[in-house]
Amino acid sequence: MINIKVSIVESALNLFITRHCNICGSELLGFEKHFCLECFADIPLTYFWEFKNNPAEMIFWGRVKIERVYSLMFFRNNYKRCVYDIKYKGNIPLGLYLGEMLGKRICTAEKRNNKPPDNYIPVNYVIPVPLHWRKKLKRGFNQAEIIARGIVNGLNGGYTASEFSGGVVPVFKTVAPARARVCTQIIKRKHFTKTQTQKDRWSRWKNVEDAFKISPCGLKRCIKNINAKRENVSVTGNADFCIAHFLIVDDVLTTGATLEACAGILIKACTKAGIKCKVSIATLAYVE
Ligand SMILES: [Zn+2]
Repeated sequence: MINIKVSIVESALNLFITRHCNICGSELLGFEKHFCLECFADIPLTYFWEFKNNPAEMIFWGRVKIERVYSLMFFRNNYKRCVYDIKYKGNIPLGLYLGEMLGKRICTAEKRNNKPPDNYIPVNYVIPVPLHWRKKLKRGFNQAEIIARGIVNGLNGGYTASEFSGGVVPVFKTVAPARARVCTQIIKRKHFTKTQTQKDRWSRWKNVEDAFKISPCGLKRCIKNINAKRENVSVTGNADFCIAHFLIVDDVLTTGATLEACAGILIKACTKAGIKCKVSIATLAYVE
């Protein structure tokens, strides 16, 4: 019902406002969102969600243990503009839209590749790479958080109640619990790091090595939440069984230094707190 109302309002607005394609600038038709049909078909998708040991995952080999790395598209041609539009022009709807697109693809691939007896826990905590509060205040938002919210919409949209916890949710529970949620309270930025754009690999690493910290309160709250959900999950005693699957989100994957730093401290803190966890990474764009 709400969707019908929204589309009526959208159609009415379309009569007065002309919208343009983010890539080629041509006027959009009523049913097109952010891209014209042609530019939508040309999005340089990576398909990283479809195969393990993809080039993005190789970046982290020997550095930190990452479960999966997903990027929506290659950072190519005019499509680079999408990232700039979200980050510097505040195109939040585009960030949510592309995030949701990635979330849906991750969800479909997870369902296809991990059948229930695998003890696979789908991504349940989505953590955007934090922005220093001064930068967030200046920009007004954290672009990684916008993308993360889109991803969560995509992830939650694609699961039913029983699939959410491997088929162990009692049948009388008809409402699907939110399977994934955004968590901004666990990883915090310690100090103000200068922009990474003009730096080489080594100086990028030195710049972020010590930039993040884990908030004990945030982690405690997360553990509490995990424990509350634990009764809904069948624990099999398998040593590889993990209870939390974190997905760290950023806009672009270049050298992976920032994401490595975040994943590193998160894994360390979870091990210390006795939580078995897996960490995956998702970005909108992947720089070849
Ligand atoms: Zn276009």
